[in-house]
Amino acid sequence: MAANCVNNEEVAATIATERGATLCAPTRQRRTMTKNAYPIGTPGTAWGESERVQWLATQKPQRSYVEDVVKQIDALRQRFEVIEYGHLDYAAGGYRLYALKSQDWNDDLPCALVTGGVHGYETSGVHGALLFAAEHAQAFAGRVNLLIAPCVSPWAYEMIHRWNPGAVDPNRSFRPERPAPESAALMDLVAPLKGRFLLHIDLHETTDTDESEFRPALAARDGKPFEPGEIPDGFYLVDDTDNPQPAFQQAMIEAVTKVTHIAPADEHNQIIGSPVVSTGVIRYPFTALGLCASVTGARYTSTTEVYPDSPNATPAQCNDAQVAAVCAGLEYALAHPA
Ligand SMILES: [Zn+2]
Repeated sequence: MAANCVNNEEVAATIATERGATLCAPTRQRRTMTKNAYPIGTPGTAWGESERVQWLATQKPQRSYVEDVVKQIDALRQRFEVIEYGHLDYAAGGYRLYALKSQDWNDDLPCALVTGGVHGYETSGVHGALLFAAEHAQAFAGRVNLLIAPCVSPWAYEMIHRWNPGAVDPNRSFRPERPAPESAALMDLVAPLKGRFLLHIDLHETTDTDESEFRPALAARDGKPFEPGEIPDGFYLVDDTDNPQPAFQQAMIEAVTKVTHIAPADEHNQIIGSPVVSTGVIRYPFTALGLCASVTGARYTSTTEVYPDSPNATPAQCNDAQVAAVCAGLEYALAHPA
């Protein structure tokens, strides 16, 4: 259930959309709840420092970045150059940021970036990127220079959260003001290669907790009313409004269809409040929103959205869906370089 509701009509509306809405989606036009149910802050007032501290105190580690991610990266040192591209110093501990780089890097080839864990709680983004590196990257050797950052926001991976400890969303922070160190470190990693990227795929999930926790938290943080939405059941992609590449997106959708189901449009022909432009594809303005997928300026860019809470998708399928999207996207981009 999304939140405390104030009358029966709202209760019914919320139950009707219980499986439904968040994410990576900033805007949505839905019913407006008359009461901010989030336990931190004052309805209608944006959080200040004390509310952020209060929120941070509720965050506890639930899994280990070193055990789950760094050890897998270490196991790939024979096949990739491992770059430590940044370091985060938080009260919970220090986090080394790693990227995997093709060993046979060739300046005559185009570059491709794969990112996961920009939202740390979106598990298949992290493990899909690692699976691609371990089992599929070799198929692209000699054709493209790969740069893979599997877990951009490791503190949030451990806490199973969207934000960093400052209650800042890294996937709204790829902007000149550099409000999140996680995002700033990745910006610095790719900056020397700007203009040379053919492709960037940023791996995400849309989860039930988006609607039950993260969208209410966002509304509370910003002093705005929480507007219930719907979580789509299935995989979808977000293309760039300012650089749409419909054939590229469709090639990825077709590949993922063989692994898991694609999210249907809702009764408004939308997914998370945005018009569906083709099967399983919506568009966001990447740069204006400060999204990670804007970081390279590549011709081919996409944000994947796996739905891990579907009764019809296992964790392995979620990882495989991420890999299928990356592989199909790379094949399409390499076949259509200009
Ligand atoms: Zn996300």
